[in-house]
This record gives sequence, C-alpha cells and structure tokens, in this order.
Amino acid sequence: MTENHKPTLTVLAGPTAVGKGTVSQYIRENYPQVWFSVSATTRDPRPGEEEGVHYYFVSDEEFDSMVNNRQMLEWAKVHNSYRYGTMRLHVENALKSGKNVLLEIDLQGARQIRNSMPDSTFIFLAPPSWEELVRRLTDRGTETKAQQEQRLDTAKIELAAEPEFDHTVVNDSVERAAQEIIEIMGLK
Ligand code: 5GP
Repeated sequence: MTENHKPTLTVLAGPTAVGKGTVSQYIRENYPQVWFSVSATTRDPRPGEEEGVHYYFVSDEEFDSMVNNRQMLEWAKVHNSYRYGTMRLHVENALKSGKNVLLEIDLQGARQIRNSMPDSTFIFLAPPSWEELVRRLTDRGTETKAQQEQRLDTAKIELAAEPEFDHTVVNDSVERAAQEIIEIMGLK
C-alpha cells in the first residue's frame, strides 16, 4: 500500500438533530467503500434496529467491563442518559486491512479521538441555520418538550465546537453533504 492510500480514520460529529444519522445512512447505502464502525450502546434497540448492524446492544455491566478492559477507543454518556462507545479492536482491524473507517459519534467522543488519534480527519456536520436546527429537533417528535429543551441547550454548546474540526459540512441536502464527506475522505 502506498503512502497516498494509507487507510484513514474519519470522525463525523455535529450537534443533536443535525441529521448525522440520515447522512450516515445515505453514505452506508450509496458508498460501500466506507466502513462504518458499529458502536456498543446501553440503550434499547428501536424498531428496525439490528444487533451488530446498527449497534451492539449491551447491558450496563457489559459496558462497564468493556471500559475497564480498555476495549473502548472512546466512549461517552450522550444526552445524560445512555452510554455509547467505539470498539477499539474493530477499528484497529479495519484500519489494518485497509478500510476507510467512518465514526459517527458525539462531540465528547470526537475530542477523545482527537487526543488518542490526532492524525484522523475531523468533520463537523453543521445545520444550515439555528432556526433550521430547532425545526428539525421539534419536527422529529421523538422527544418530550423537556428533552427537546435539554437537547437544544446541548446543541448550543456543541455548535460552538465547530472551530475544533478540520472541515465543516453544511447539511443543507443529505445527498450533497454525503458527497462532500466522501470527497473529504478522498474517495471520489
Ligand atoms: P442514537 O441513540 O440516536 O442512535 O444516537 C445518539 C447519539 O449517540 C448520536 O449523537 C450519535 O452520534 C452518538 N453515538 C453513537 N455511537 C457513538 C459512539 O460510539 N461514541 C460516541 N461518543 N457517541 C456515539
């Protein structure tokens, strides 16, 4: 493998409700050259989510043991509720076998990767505007009013983190944003 084709780790983060999940899903379906890391989480599966495909659904005890055994490359408690983490061995093996790895994680996790793997590429997915972010969060209707308020507070803090990233991609259209991410990853 030449230096130019060194497999890279790319981290995609952004504020709550910006559409990270939708953009990731689009990339999953249209760009098979991207390898997605499957995270472990302590939350329950949502309808349609499959073990080992969307997440590894684990108990609190299992998550504790993964953290204690240094099996997590990064992990975080997201929105003050469930824990999510990237499994170190999976990512290391994928990179070793030449895969282009994409981590779709929260900001706390992105910061941990910045410390442990600073050569990675960091992409911030931004909303077209604050108003649009509020609209996306309230339209989705999956959270209670109190949860929405809490997520908006978090989103404000998260938006301020944009300068920590190497690239900003505005999610004005899922397809366009996905294409830009693919270009940044050098896959186009
Ligand atoms: P959801 O529960 O909607 O699937 O995900 C909630 C949040 O957890 C999203 O912001 C997502 O980026 C984040 N997340 C998913 N997997 C990981 C992970 O492995 N590590 C971290 N730090 N955040 C994650």
